Amino acid sequence: MSASANSLVAAIVSPQPDVAQAFIERLSGAGAKNGLVDLSHQMHVVVEIPAAEPEETFVAQVKSADFSVMLLRFVDEATLNVARAMLRMLPASVQGRIHFVLAREPGELEFKLSCPQCGQKLMIKDALAFRRTQCPRCKHPFTIPGQTDLVRRELLIPANHNIGRVDLGDQESCLNALRNAYRQAGGARPEEKSTTMRLDDLLPGDVG
Ligand SMILES: [Zn+2]
Repeated sequence: MSASANSLVAAIVSPQPDVAQAFIERLSGAGAKNGLVDLSHQMHVVVEIPAAEPEETFVAQVKSADFSVMLLRFVDEATLNVARAMLRMLPASVQGRIHFVLAREPGELEFKLSCPQCGQKLMIKDALAFRRTQCPRCKHPFTIPGQTDLVRRELLIPANHNIGRVDLGDQESCLNALRNAYRQAGGARPEEKSTTMRLDDLLPGDVG
C-alpha cells in the first residue's frame, strides 16, 4: 500500500516479527501485513513492516518512513542483540525518529530477560522488579532491573525519549503508541520541519 499525499508512513520494527505483526493486525484488522490507520480526523498513517532483509531494503524502508516504532516484548540478551543489530544498520538521524515501546500480550504480567552472569533466560514477574534474587541455574545473585530501565540502558535510548507500553490486545493502546511515536518524531518529515518561511508583512493597523 502506498501513502497518499496527506498520509504518513510508520515503519513498525521488532526483533520479534510476530510482535510487529500483532500490532499491525490490532490496528488494521486480522491478516493485515500493512494497513491504513486513522490517527485523527486529519491524519492517516500507513503502518508497514519493513522487509527484514536484505539489509539495504530494510534500511531504505525505515529511512523513507516518517517515523518508526520499535516494539520489544522480551528483553533477554538474544532478543536485545537482534534489536541492536537492527539499530546499527540505521543512521543516527533515523534512530532518533524511533519510538521504543514495550509490548505485552493481554494480561501478561511478566517479562523475559537473561541472567547477567550465565545468560540463562528467565521469566520475571513485574512485581519482582528491583528486588534481589539469584539465578536458578548459576546461583549468581543480582538485582532484577525494571524492563524500561533495562531497555534504556541496553539500547542506549536517550533520557528525553519516553519508552511506551502497549497491550497488543487493546486497539486504543496500540493507537496511542502510534500517536506518541508521531509526536516524538516531531510530527513531520525532517525536510518539512527544516523549511523556513520569511515573515515580511504585518497586518494593517498594527502599531509597531
Ligand atoms: Zn545465571
